[in-house]
Amino acid sequence: MTVAQNNWLDLELSLDSGIYNKHHVVMVRGEGAHVWDENGREYIDCVGGYGVANVGHGNADVVKAVQDQAAKLMIMPQTLPNDKRAEFLKELTDVLPSELSRVFLCNSGTEAMEAAKKFAITATGGRTRFVSMKRGFSGRTLGALALTWEPKYREPFGSAVDDAHVTFVTYGNVEELRAALTDDVAAVILEPVQGEGGVRPGDAAFIQAARELTREKGALLILDEIQTGFCRTGHFFAMEHFGVVPDGVTLAKAMAGGVPIGAFVMTTEVADRMPKGGHGTTFGGNPLAMAAGVAAIRFMRRERLWEQAAAKGDYFMEKLRAIKSSKIREVRGLGLMIGVELKEKSGPYITALEHDEAVLTLQATPLVVRFLPPLTISYEDIDKVVAAFERVLERVNPREVSAEQVKEEKQTE
Ligand SMILES: *Cc1c(COP(=O)(O)O)cnc(C)c1O
Repeated sequence: MTVAQNNWLDLELSLDSGIYNKHHVVMVRGEGAHVWDENGREYIDCVGGYGVANVGHGNADVVKAVQDQAAKLMIMPQTLPNDKRAEFLKELTDVLPSELSRVFLCNSGTEAMEAAKKFAITATGGRTRFVSMKRGFSGRTLGALALTWEPKYREPFGSAVDDAHVTFVTYGNVEELRAALTDDVAAVILEPVQGEGGVRPGDAAFIQAARELTREKGALLILDEIQTGFCRTGHFFAMEHFGVVPDGVTLAKAMAGGVPIGAFVMTTEVADRMPKGGHGTTFGGNPLAMAAGVAAIRFMRRERLWEQAAAKGDYFMEKLRAIKSSKIREVRGLGLMIGVELKEKSGPYITALEHDEAVLTLQATPLVVRFLPPLTISYEDIDKVVAAFERVLERVNPREVSAEQVKEEKQTE
């Protein structure tokens, strides 16, 4: 080891698996919608932990709950009931439609998708085909990866990805969906707003048709609300925009205010058909995550965070739409899940926002700049982000970007 022990950047770059396109900064602290790097530079954070930090970084309620629970009890397997787990299950099911009343707890979004597949198979008496959406994203473990559309995520792993059991249909195309719904389909899985696929809000008629068609065919409708849940889109859950109650919903990201967590929440009919011992996890439902989840959900309810997301999202998108730039093709989104599609690669603009303006944003497909700020972000910060974006759009000429920017752009794609 030749790297100095306190050179955190070099240490991380040299010891990490190498799968991530890491930016050349070291982040050390966060508060609300702001984060700081090791040199004390302050950023406005519109990455928001990829949509985890809905209640803001360093949320006092979540911090207190984690501190108290860490001192009390951190781990207790699910065969041994726990007070915090029971309390969390009640909080969670209280904010969901009453039909969604049975919860499988895990630790991440991809795990929630794996559970959803297994529960769908047993609930339909052994059907194994799935219908997923073009441009959809469901996670990176092999089972969830099979539902993820982007071929470059699947292809390196060949036939180990069981995508032969998956039919991909165009998001929004009812006729394709109808044709794909053969008698061996266990479930149709879709995001109410596609996130990774470029921030594309779903079409109400399509999602309602998916509800009707799955019911007719004896298949489940599973909504992936891993990114859209917990107030992000202006309702507690995005399904409320469409008036649709699915047979199951996958949840993760913002559910515990930043502590790893995941869940598949389903109807009693679905839950009751999984045999005892048919699925399980060691860390799922651990008291630490449960305490954080109780605090995060209570904070969302008390602050009516969905209303904040709706109002701030409308304000943010209105200001983005007012930018006069020939580089913008479309501003779209729902609540504070916002994407700006450019007519050129978004990478240099994302890099310039970070380097020159101290604004963190993320990419969704090569052309889209995505904004997923904490829902507690101030209007003043939204103004600053829009002003910074406007300057960057005006200033950055993609043909004149620095060598470093070109390198980072390649990486972010
Ligand atoms: C993030 C995400 C996942 C995967 O969640 P992980 O916690 O990263 O495994 C799945 N589906 C959607 C819609 C997501 O946004």
